[in-house]
Amino acid sequence: TTTRCSVVVVGAGFSGLSAAKLLAENGVEDVVILEAADRIGGRVRKEEFGGVSVELGAGWISGVGGKQSNPVWELARQSNLRTCFSDYSNARYNIYDDSGKIFPSRIAADSYKKAVESAIRKLRNEESNHDADLSVLAETPSVPKTPIELAIDFILHDFEMAEVEPISTYVDFGEREFLVVDERGYECLLYKMAENFLFTSEGKILDSRLKLNKVVRELQHSRNGVSVKTEDGSIYEANYVILSVSIGVLQSDLISFNPPLPKWKTEAINNCDIMVYTKVFLKFPRKFWPCGPEKEFFIYANERRGYYTFWQHMENAYPGSNILVVTLTNGESKRVEAQSDQQTMKEAMEVLRKMFGPQIPDAIDILVPRWWNNRFQRGSYSNYPIYINHPLIDDIKAPLGRIYFTGEHTNEKFNGYVHGAYLSGIETSKALLEEMRIEKEIIGENQAFL
Ligand code: FAD
Repeated sequence: TTTRCSVVVVGAGFSGLSAAKLLAENGVEDVVILEAADRIGGRVRKEEFGGVSVELGAGWISGVGGKQSNPVWELARQSNLRTCFSDYSNARYNIYDDSGKIFPSRIAADSYKKAVESAIRKLRNEESNHDADLSVLAETPSVPKTPIELAIDFILHDFEMAEVEPISTYVDFGEREFLVVDERGYECLLYKMAENFLFTSEGKILDSRLKLNKVVRELQHSRNGVSVKTEDGSIYEANYVILSVSIGVLQSDLISFNPPLPKWKTEAINNCDIMVYTKVFLKFPRKFWPCGPEKEFFIYANERRGYYTFWQHMENAYPGSNILVVTLTNGESKRVEAQSDQQTMKEAMEVLRKMFGPQIPDAIDILVPRWWNNRFQRGSYSNYPIYINHPLIDDIKAPLGRIYFTGEHTNEKFNGYVHGAYLSGIETSKALLEEMRIEKEIIGENQAFL
């Protein structure tokens, strides 16, 4: 079957839906949204686990309390989203060694200071490799070796680079972060947004412009339009396409372009790093970890960097839920995705017994998201080295004829975040509306001429 429409939006995550909403608000009604999964939300996704709602993807609204208001925080307020203030700066005072002892706070603070200084030197070094004038400033950074140094290095680089470099999210929107702890899930913000332009009833989107289970496999594009082919053999003929799939999907061969993407485009896409970030959830029959103030986050220091390092208990979010979350990244994420969940539970229990002793009870359930192996994601979010941000992102987001690129990875200031995705959708649709306006003018002039 062939369907004609003016714009096809590929993907119904935050960026795809914010793009479609802006088009609808500007009178572009015949938009079709094609989503590969059987649900909207993309990397915003909740699941029932251990009697509560847990967020497999985005969990925090980052950047709150500053001069400018974060648009996702605004959406949260409109939806009465339940959130919980998070402060992981105390995590450094809850670092456990292999024998279950907590490192004295002075040692932890010193190690932390050293690690921040070293990270700043490393950043300067990398910058100077790109800029000869800076090379005089370069000093050799120290290499983390001991378990505590490795743990802090992991926390700094894989979580909170904010202490090392200014991050636009915190500079513009404020330094506070709120954990989403709502039974409706983070994704209820998307339903709230959809309500404004799609037909919804009883919390369900019933609008025929949103098509689920439609895996786009080919974009055939020319000066006149784009033909979008899906895995189930449907064809959509559109004047324009907004492509909101993740950078990981663009790097994979899920979607083929005909004619193929030019070299500058594929090079830019392939040069963007992808972060894999995995929250493993463990449910226990009772809690055995400290729960007082400033104990929400704790760290396990091991000679293997990133090995079950960063822990959070969910008692502040859901009291009595008896759930722990351990976050893995990159190599450790991929390793754990490839093995059985039983094996992961066994490894996590060994680590917990080192921290809290042999008497603690076994976990009774585990949930391991697989963002890397999900062919509609292929990773968690984009990660641009700070010194090559601009040209790389410009090339990644540059439209190719009638194909417009959007998504978290195309937002120069806020890539990697939900608000980055949301704002990118708006920016892309603004550019497309301008293009459509110009096209209409040209057609009008030609008609007048004839
Ligand atoms: P996506 O949400 O990936 O949307 C793209 C959509 O395209 C998906 O629905 C996908 O199914 C669909 N798609 C893919 N291929 C096809 C195809 N071929 N055909 C049709 N459809 C297709 N951000 C924060 O702000 N705070 C956090 O705490 C946070 N934590 C995170 C933790 C994890 C584990 C992850 C994975 C992400 C986290 N993020 C966080 C990042 C945030 O989730 C993303 O930046 C944002 O949701 C991306 O939205 P998007 O619209 O760009 O992409």
